[in-house]
Amino acid sequence: MKVHHLNCGTMQPPGTPELVCHVLLVETDNGLVLVDTGYGLADIADPRRRIGPMRHLLKPAFDPDETAARQVQRLGFGRDDVRHIVITHFDLDHIGGLADFPAAQVHVTSAEIDGAIRTPSWRERLRYRAVQWEHHPVVVEHSADGESWRGFATAKELDAVSPGVVLIPLPGHTRGHACVAVDTGDGWILHCGDAFYHRGEIDGRTSVPRSLKLQERVTAVNFAQLRDNQRRIAELYARGEPDLLIICAHDAAQFPR
Ligand SMILES: [Zn+2]
Repeated sequence: MKVHHLNCGTMQPPGTPELVCHVLLVETDNGLVLVDTGYGLADIADPRRRIGPMRHLLKPAFDPDETAARQVQRLGFGRDDVRHIVITHFDLDHIGGLADFPAAQVHVTSAEIDGAIRTPSWRERLRYRAVQWEHHPVVVEHSADGESWRGFATAKELDAVSPGVVLIPLPGHTRGHACVAVDTGDGWILHCGDAFYHRGEIDGRTSVPRSLKLQERVTAVNFAQLRDNQRRIAELYARGEPDLLIICAHDAAQFPR
C-alpha cells in the first residue's frame, strides 16, 4: 500500500520546538484511509468555537493548505475517495479534519468513546471538543482484544478498513489512545499518535525538551501507564527491526525523514 506522510497542522506553542500533526494517507484496495486528520477547514473557519482556549496555547498555523482535505485534493483525489479514518484518540489536534470527510467511517477504540462521549470525567469534558465530531454520523468502535503484535499484548487488524491496517490500544495519554500500524508492502509504519511527543523518548539518545516532558505529564490521563507503554515502544525501537518505521504525531524533526 502506498502511504503519503502529511503534516496537517503546524503548531508553535510558546517555549517548545515547532510541532507538526503527522497524518498518514494510505492508498488501499478499498479506497483511501487516513490515520488521524490534524486540523480541518472548519477549525480554521471558526477556531474560537471549534478549538476553544487551547488555540492560545498550541498556536496552530491554521493554514488551509495544510488540511488533509486540501492535500488529498492536491494529490489528485476527491474527498469522497477517503472511505475510512482511523484515529489514535479524540484530542482536538487529531480529529479536526473529520468534518471535511463526512462520507468516511471513523474507527476508534471503545475506551476512547467512553472517555470522550459515554462517561467522560470532568477532566475529559474539558479536554475534548464535541463540536468536532457531533456531525459525524458513523463511528465504528473497536474493543481492546485481539492478537499480540511485536510485543504489544493486543492488536486488531481492521479488515473492514483494509488488510494490513492494525489498531493497537496503547492507553495513557488518553483512556482509549491507540497506535496504528500500516503494512506498506515492503515494511510497516507504526504511527504512535501521542504515545510519545519526541523521538528522544524512544531512542534514548536525543534529549527531550523539558517543555515537552512537562506537556506530556500534564496531558496524560495516566502518566504511569504512558511511561510504561513508552518503554515498550523504546524496546521495539532498540530491536532495530529493519522493516519497521516508528513515528509519533508531533515530532517535527521526525517528519521530513
Ligand atoms: Zn496531539
